[in-house]
Amino acid sequence: MYYVSTRNKLLDFTPAQAIAQGLSREGGLFLPAALPKLPGSALESMKNMNYQQRAVYIMSLYLTHFSTAELTSFAAKAYGPEKFDTQEVVPVRKVDGNTYCLELWHGPTCAFKDLALQMLPHLLTASMRKNHDNRTVCILVATSGDTGKAAMEGFRDVEQTRILVFYPKDGVSEVQALQMCTQEGQNVGVCSVVGNFDDAQTGVKELFSDEALREELAGVNTILSSANSINWGRVLPQIVYYVSAYCDLMKMGEIAEGDAINVCVPTGNFGNILAAYYAREMGLPIQKLICASNSNNVLTDFLTTGTYDRNRPFFNTISPSMDILISSNLERLLFALSDGNDAQVAEYMKRLKEDGCYSVDKKMLERLQKTFAAGCADEGQTRETIGRMWREKHYLIDTHSAVAFHVLEQYRAQTGDETPTVVASTASPFKFCDAVLEAIGVEERSTGAGLLDQLSEVTGVPTPRPLAGLRDKEIRFSGWVQKDQMKAVVRGFNR
Ligand SMILES: *Cc1c(COP(=O)(O)O)cnc(C)c1O
Repeated sequence: MYYVSTRNKLLDFTPAQAIAQGLSREGGLFLPAALPKLPGSALESMKNMNYQQRAVYIMSLYLTHFSTAELTSFAAKAYGPEKFDTQEVVPVRKVDGNTYCLELWHGPTCAFKDLALQMLPHLLTASMRKNHDNRTVCILVATSGDTGKAAMEGFRDVEQTRILVFYPKDGVSEVQALQMCTQEGQNVGVCSVVGNFDDAQTGVKELFSDEALREELAGVNTILSSANSINWGRVLPQIVYYVSAYCDLMKMGEIAEGDAINVCVPTGNFGNILAAYYAREMGLPIQKLICASNSNNVLTDFLTTGTYDRNRPFFNTISPSMDILISSNLERLLFALSDGNDAQVAEYMKRLKEDGCYSVDKKMLERLQKTFAAGCADEGQTRETIGRMWREKHYLIDTHSAVAFHVLEQYRAQTGDETPTVVASTASPFKFCDAVLEAIGVEERSTGAGLLDQLSEVTGVPTPRPLAGLRDKEIRFSGWVQKDQMKAVVRGFNR
């Protein structure tokens, strides 16, 4: 299997080259030249496998230059009991008659990004070996809160790597900031940037295309790479859990093989829902992909009208990991839906960069709408959904998952489509204690790590272990910079 770029489909990269390089030189994203199909017997055989085995099964379809033994060892390390607090890794919980919640937050940082970022370091270091490349990889991350922590947890003390994380100074929750500032490991660095997530992300993208910096780092045998969801090595592990959820629904007797399901995903950078799209393209019987946004509803508008327009106010919301106006992974979907028209994709991305806006043609919009539905939840609707889920079902959900549950209700009311639906639950409610406490009606709230105890006391739900341990950790990083100082930070970090 070979990999091409969304802006140049004549490239011919091995999986190891695509993963090691992260982003293609001309700015495009890597993806397989052709998507593999699930063999006819796949679901029935995977039904009785554990999560690690399912991961090996799916990933080996894409990583043809990796051996089964290698992938088996990666899956054991990434998804083992030291990392995930449940043997199922990603349990499926039945919420009501035809609604299921895929809990993606049982990993070391309590957000779904662990599923990809526990795997990526293994894929990346193995890729470097396969490429006979002994340089140090410096991972630069721009984070809206969860990626940074998950990436550091995945890469901490991994040989041949260093990782530096930038997060928007006032754009993450208290618990998220505490998680990052207390990160352990010899090869990690954290710095906050004045501005919002898009500022931090744009800053990091500029560093990647800075030739002078590249040369300087080459002098110390170092290359830059990315752990953001533009790296194929992050998208691939996410495909696994959609297939896994389907197998679990079969196993639970909720569906029979071949039955259609819908999937509803709280979306920011479009990485998670893109993985569901790929699962569908591989032949998993997914009917609709429901894309849920918060008040930063640029994707709702795009999927409704065909015009992507980032020229709009940016809102800091209680679901900060979705506070994004430039959804990088949409580029991969555009490539797929234009039947691999790389020139067309490059043109859209140019318009986006120069005008902040582009429109797809009618045919493309029809194709989009055949597969995707979209909706958004404002802050009030998000809180109301958390409160109601708690009161009526005694199920505590976080702000991002609440956006998805709200949008699903909206979708069902509008369409009458009652297909069994899997909602991707992307974070533990304990990562967003303050907003969750407010939503369930607690007016006097604690601060910092005290919020964790308070949420646990009020609800009787135990605090996840990785978060309960935060209070005793030393603050290791407290620096912040202006956007134009980010380059100096990278230099200092790699000296
Ligand atoms: C990153 C994140 C999202 C958005 O996922 P994308 O892949 O960027 O669309 C949603 N919820 C949580 C909790 C996240 O951390």
